[in-house]
Amino acid sequence: MSLHGENLVLPNDEHNQALVANVHPSNWVNPEPAGRYNIVVIGAGTAGLITAVIAASLGAKVALIERHLMGGDCLNVGCVPSKGMIRAARAWADVRQAAEFGLHIPAGVKYDFGAAMARMRRLRARISHNDSAHRYTKLGVDVFIGNGRFTGSGTIQVEGPAGNRTLSFARAAICTGARAAAPPTPGLEETGYLTNETIFSLTELPLRLAVIGAGPVGCEMAQSFARFGSRVQLFERMGHILPREDADAAEIVQAQMNKDGVEFLFNSRVTRVERRGAEKVIHYDLQGMTNELVVDDILVGIGRAPNVDGLGLELVGVEYDQRTGVKVNAGLQTTNPSIYAAGDICFPLKFTHTADAMAQIVIQNALFPHPFGLGRASTDSLIIPWATFTEPEIAHVGMYEKDAKDKGIEVETYTFALDEVDRAILDGEDDGFARIHIQKGTDKIVGATIVAAHAGEMINEFSVLMKAGLGAKIIAGTIHPYPTQAEVNKKVVNLWRKAHFTPRTKALLMKLFAWMRRK
Ligand SMILES: Cc1cc2nc3c(=O)[nH]c(=O)nc-3n(C[C@H](O)[C@H](O)[C@H](O)COP(=O)(O)OP(=O)(O)OC[C@H]3O[C@@H](n4cnc5c(N)ncnc54)[C@H](O)[C@@H]3O)c2cc1C
Repeated sequence: MSLHGENLVLPNDEHNQALVANVHPSNWVNPEPAGRYNIVVIGAGTAGLITAVIAASLGAKVALIERHLMGGDCLNVGCVPSKGMIRAARAWADVRQAAEFGLHIPAGVKYDFGAAMARMRRLRARISHNDSAHRYTKLGVDVFIGNGRFTGSGTIQVEGPAGNRTLSFARAAICTGARAAAPPTPGLEETGYLTNETIFSLTELPLRLAVIGAGPVGCEMAQSFARFGSRVQLFERMGHILPREDADAAEIVQAQMNKDGVEFLFNSRVTRVERRGAEKVIHYDLQGMTNELVVDDILVGIGRAPNVDGLGLELVGVEYDQRTGVKVNAGLQTTNPSIYAAGDICFPLKFTHTADAMAQIVIQNALFPHPFGLGRASTDSLIIPWATFTEPEIAHVGMYEKDAKDKGIEVETYTFALDEVDRAILDGEDDGFARIHIQKGTDKIVGATIVAAHAGEMINEFSVLMKAGLGAKIIAGTIHPYPTQAEVNKKVVNLWRKAHFTPRTKALLMKLFAWMRRK
């Protein structure tokens, strides 16, 4: 919502003031609309920012509308603050196991959650200049602060604090993102709860924190808060965390989270929430029994709901669904051929890098002619890796074994454990593995999963290979520096190589060597 004013991002300290000065300047005056725009973009998260900046750099006339904070979720309430917190929580966890490295921390050491959060806010403010309204204006984008809404075919109204403006467009891009989905649990609204939109404003540690949902956001936050010293209880309807990932990969992360102190309530169902004085009480069912849990706060991380409301989509014939968002084809065109969409609003893989890649597709398809469909970009050709930044991290690219089976692709699967990788052992980070799926009869890698401290970095080797259409043999022939954890990528490929070194090949070689000895 557009909330001009001091308290746009809490707490109202110097860091958040610097952030807001960049991403929602209080004295911002919207420009006079400049005739018909080549493209008007609604929403200045990653998808909208990238769409706008590329279009402007190509010489197009561009308007960008943001009702809240430029930078969207990623900068303000997503990737950036969460990774800042995760880093601090890791430092705290390292201190607790320092004795293993011969460092004996005396009792009475001070843990300062407020300072850890201030560090996060300082770094977020530092990064925010990249997404600032002034920077985008300098880059040639007309930045409008206000709510954007389609008012007719070819027009969008910006409802800003200083009045409304009507922008006309040849093409439009809907990049309005998503927000935390709220479960319809009785009493939750009245009791109050945290989401990603409020948790990064905390300045005091909740001593008892319930987390509802063991997806990436729930797991990253549950582990971090447990490391900060909260008693964290994680409610999940399924039987393990991170349901998208391979069960054995998720189990490794689960075991570490358990060591960090997270308590899991799997196959549980929260039925009701109520407030008792300053405390919050969760009523839940587990194994046929009804229980209650008293906590100081509740974090809800059960998924994302697309921001489709109030955009006037019906008026311009853009079809959408409240759960899956705006309907697009592979070229990211909506059911109105002049209107495109990108990012969380229309795509199931909700990541910053996906939003970025989609923005580039929108530019190519919306701004350039495509005689006979030539040169049209498509989401079908995207190779999309992702990572969950728990410790250890889980990263994945391409297909899981099940996806390959569903598509009728026969694969061979190989897994190499990190406890046989020297660097992982020396780092004390040897819980994990690399797994590859190779199409039978070829050396084509169709999917890979890595569980490792730096899995998010290590997965890139497989992504490049898949993007370039190169096979596993390339990794086998690539020298990896010793000792690095990324050696696991080569070691897992070597398993495939060894499996294809058949007894018949060996018998032939033995004959050759025997012949050479006779010479
Ligand atoms: C806690 C958390 C951690 C995450 N961590 C990662 C991570 O580590 N890596 C990763 O890749 N992804 C991560 N993500 C996901 C990532 O943040 C999103 O995928 C990404 O921000 C999507 O970008 P977007 O541009 O589609 O939408 P958003 O960033 O949501 O931007 C949409 C913008 O549109 C604006 N808007 C909406 N409606 C209107 C309107 N009518 N008028 C004007 N403006 C409007 C909104 O205010 C918002 O600023 C995380 C998400 C969360 C919640």
